Amino acid sequence: MIVMKFGGTSVEDAPAIGRVAEIVGSRSADDPVVVVSALARVTDQLLSAGRAAAAGDRSAALESIQALRQRHLDAASDLLPAAYSSKLQPELESSFDHLQELLISIATLQELSPRSTDGLLSFGELLSSEIVSAAFAARGLSCEHVDARECLITDAAHTKAAPLFDETRARLEARLRPLVERHSIPVMGGFVGSTLDGIPTTIGRGGSDYSASIVGAALDAGRIEIWTDVPGMMTTDPNLCPEARLITEISFDEAAELASFGAKVLHPATLLPAIEKNIPVWVLNSRDPAGAGTCIRAHAPRNHHPVRAIAAKRHTTIVNVAGERAWIPRGFLREVLAVFDRHECQVDIVASSQVRISLAVESDSVTPELLAALESFAPVSCEPRQAIVSVVGENLRGRQGIAARVFSSVAAAGVNVRMISQGASEINIGFVIQEEDVPAAVRRLHSDLFADPKGREGLAMAAVQPQPGTARSCDSH
Ligand code: ASP
Ligand code: MG
Repeated sequence: MIVMKFGGTSVEDAPAIGRVAEIVGSRSADDPVVVVSALARVTDQLLSAGRAAAAGDRSAALESIQALRQRHLDAASDLLPAAYSSKLQPELESSFDHLQELLISIATLQELSPRSTDGLLSFGELLSSEIVSAAFAARGLSCEHVDARECLITDAAHTKAAPLFDETRARLEARLRPLVERHSIPVMGGFVGSTLDGIPTTIGRGGSDYSASIVGAALDAGRIEIWTDVPGMMTTDPNLCPEARLITEISFDEAAELASFGAKVLHPATLLPAIEKNIPVWVLNSRDPAGAGTCIRAHAPRNHHPVRAIAAKRHTTIVNVAGERAWIPRGFLREVLAVFDRHECQVDIVASSQVRISLAVESDSVTPELLAALESFAPVSCEPRQAIVSVVGENLRGRQGIAARVFSSVAAAGVNVRMISQGASEINIGFVIQEEDVPAAVRRLHSDLFADPKGREGLAMAAVQPQPGTARSCDSH
């Protein structure tokens, strides 16, 4: 069996869902399990309706739910023959009635808690998976809608819940395996789950990719396909650099570094379950199903470029914490990191000197509470509007002169480097620059590091063979 996950833009309207049905139909011999996101932008709209309700703007909240209701009903009626549409419509209406009740109670309490946020957001995937499953049935595919809340079991950390893997595996095995065995396609929403008590949870924005790989790992899938609206993983963001090229093959480690450091095509946690079970993950384009896409797996052939890809993570702040008397006492770093940890602020890069510690973190995680906690024992200053640029590739391992090439390239772009991290990951050179310098730095790096004019990724890759012991072993499981 395989897992096929379709993102929001791949199910945004009736024509898109029609394409999904065709793609899934073409793979039916592989026994797919289908995981879908909410229709494009729906999660954002649900969230802003919830916020409007909590702020007392009940009519704005109800109006936006009315618009969502119409959009889903239209998609269903455009997509489905009358017989199927009239069967689905009452189910959609009843979901929207529940959604409306929930919003009214949020407006009455004027409070949007993490728990009610999850209740609200879970509707997006619930609705899309019902429509997609009806579309499959109408096209003659044998399928069954599966409520993800019954299968993906998590802790109660609402809005960023962590899966309880043993329970989830048991539930997925019990619910999905019999369907797969009789060649019926399970269709479920990604991103949503529930606690052991059945309270809806979500696993973090963009989490449908992660759901798909949890399902794939639980059922030992032959591959996990992430269908999206771009050709695959690219050598850099094509919006920043039009010369960006498709990466046809990439290792788990390289792709995981890129996903954590700004490549938006995959949720950062996606690869973990796949790596554990050594399941290849494909990134494919639902608007161009015949495209090559990107294959992410344990061993990817070395390419002939010095690196595999360049990512940029904007929206970064540097927090500087000074030592009390202009030096760093023993235990200071531990104390500082403990504060970041307590405030759930993930540190991306750390640099320390005799006099202070600098930490690069995601800007939204720098809360007044975090700063107050740090200020209680040390002088603190912040540098907002920074970005982390990461240059990633297995070829970086032990190669001389690459760091010099990277930094002279950035210097040639006239860009100042504020912090550097090298060596923590052997396959990633990361550095912090001002956010406004990202386009210039990335373009220059890309043209210097991918200079070969005839070098399409993949063509000359066989030139350098992987060295034994440098890539993750295939037999670890
Ligand atoms: N619909 C959710 C979101 O927008 C999950 C996902 O699409 O992956 O974050
Ligand atoms: Mg996504």
